[in-house]
Amino acid sequence: MAAPIVKKVEVNEFTFELKDIGSEPTIGIPIYEPGSTRVSSAMAVRIHTDTDIVGEYVGGSKTEYSAFPMFMRSVIGRSILAREAVYNDAKQALRQHARMGMSQVDMALWDAAGKYFETPIYQLLGEYRTSFPAYASTYVGDNAKDGLSTPEAYADFAEQCYDIGYRAYKIHPWQDASLDKQIAVVEEVGKRVGDKMDLMLDPFCAYKTFADAVKVGRACDDWGYYWYEDPFKDGGVSAFAHRKLRELIKTPLLQLEHQRGLEPHMDFILADGTDFVRIDQDYDGGITGVMKIAHASEGLGLDVEPHGPGASRRQCMAAMRNSNYYELGLVHPKCQNFVHAPIFLDGYNDDLEGIDENGHVQVSDGPGMGVELDWKYIESHTIDHVVYE
Ligand SMILES: [Mg+2]
Repeated sequence: MAAPIVKKVEVNEFTFELKDIGSEPTIGIPIYEPGSTRVSSAMAVRIHTDTDIVGEYVGGSKTEYSAFPMFMRSVIGRSILAREAVYNDAKQALRQHARMGMSQVDMALWDAAGKYFETPIYQLLGEYRTSFPAYASTYVGDNAKDGLSTPEAYADFAEQCYDIGYRAYKIHPWQDASLDKQIAVVEEVGKRVGDKMDLMLDPFCAYKTFADAVKVGRACDDWGYYWYEDPFKDGGVSAFAHRKLRELIKTPLLQLEHQRGLEPHMDFILADGTDFVRIDQDYDGGITGVMKIAHASEGLGLDVEPHGPGASRRQCMAAMRNSNYYELGLVHPKCQNFVHAPIFLDGYNDDLEGIDENGHVQVSDGPGMGVELDWKYIESHTIDHVVYE
């Protein structure tokens, strides 16, 4: 059957404002800062075809899109259903450029395919479920009086999340606190809610040494943490170091957010570097790449856990058995999630209250990615626009 052919690829960079949010000084990620306004930018891609079907995706950083010119010849002129061919050609073309950008194109192609067949992506992949539990994933720690500035504040917020319906809670602690304070937050949250919530800890690779990672890991052991993720400044990429860490602590590790794609994931797993397998649709080759990792991990008996929220994460989780929690975040007692621009016309959201009474989120039943994007907003806030044809 002749499917639509890709005619051009259009990219918009657009801005949106976030109130009471500033930038964390060490790595620049958003942080609660009362009174500040952060102007964020986001990226949108549209794949136009020789029919009225348009594949859309919003997500990924400007850095990812900077590699688009290197592989557009693998995309334009091809069938919107030729995802496997695009994946393999783009992967080769981008071999010296961290395979950036191919993920966002893959997801727009999946959206186009869903619209072509008038079916949500998860049903094209193979439906397993439509609802799954979420964990509340916090902002990194701040210094604001009413923010996440003390171990007690994290524990108070965990209790608030429990009352909303969450049964799992992930701490992103401070980037610059003393080791004693890093251990104190693990203990305080464990003491308060450890008997009724699954707890995770993700220091964003902030601890300075392997020894610090071991010390905090032993605190996680004492309180039965569900997973411990990217603890120290190797950047989450040393399989050898994480195998050693697994020998020294009991808490399961979750690694691989910072290794891109199928083969590096498999090498790291087979080197005994992790227990849970991190996947990210924006880093690992899109839905095509993530499903390869999910199925390869399933063959090894392991679970994969999607990084960050978003419709693409929901579509994949709905089509896989071996995954436990949807990452809803980042959340904070005083400010909104920063990941999404105000661009959803259908009420889609990943805010703190965005779960149902069972602590679950659902996958959308609309065709393709299942979200309705506000192109008027995107176009009227555009600061950069590129067309490839
Ligand atoms: Mg992480």
